[in-house]
Amino acid sequence: MKSILIIEDEKAIAELERDYLESYGYTVELEGRGDIGLKKALEEQYDLIVLDVMLPKIDGFEICRQIRQTSNIPILMVTAKKEDIDKIRGLGLGADDYITKPFSPSELVARVKAHLARYERLTADKAERDESIRIRGLVIDKPSRRVMIHEKEAMLTSKEYELLLLLASHPNRVFEKEELFERIWGVDSNGDAATVTVHIRRLREKIEHDPSNPQYIDTIWGVGYRFKV
Ligand code: CA
Repeated sequence: MKSILIIEDEKAIAELERDYLESYGYTVELEGRGDIGLKKALEEQYDLIVLDVMLPKIDGFEICRQIRQTSNIPILMVTAKKEDIDKIRGLGLGADDYITKPFSPSELVARVKAHLARYERLTADKAERDESIRIRGLVIDKPSRRVMIHEKEAMLTSKEYELLLLLASHPNRVFEKEELFERIWGVDSNGDAATVTVHIRRLREKIEHDPSNPQYIDTIWGVGYRFKV
């Protein structure tokens, strides 16, 4: 169940918002003071914050600014003043949306729903991005350090894996052989740029359909290599 924090000092409005959101299955917590609301927003886990602008102690602008320093949680700002809208838009506070009083409860619910869904998609996409790299039939699964090429696992040594991961993490960037050697083997290791050449050759034999005509790792003559996309 999604939980929502409403920071709103007008009790009647706060309760109306709460009742409506609860009727749609959300768990709702109310807070009337800005300073306590900010503390709760920073310390507890919510899925979305409905934030009034005019509040005792600390206003909604400042609360929004402070939450954004540490969190991407969706923030829906509520205001009664037209001037506030320009401020919400213009100050770069990081609010996701705003709604002006008076508003209908169904409008509030629609906005809340939309922002919760958007945030969920964002975090799901991000998790996927962090965990694997997918480029034209090649999948590098970082948690398991496995590499799949057209759904078949390529059995790479640890250095081959690191080399591939480094190149694929910076698509199209040209790496000099010396830099690759330093980053994967370390400056103090025995070996030199030729070590890189040998490893690239083996890596290609494992991931390229035709190693003499590579689709993934390009040789940049006289310089080094790049992962092409
Ligand atoms: Ca208020």
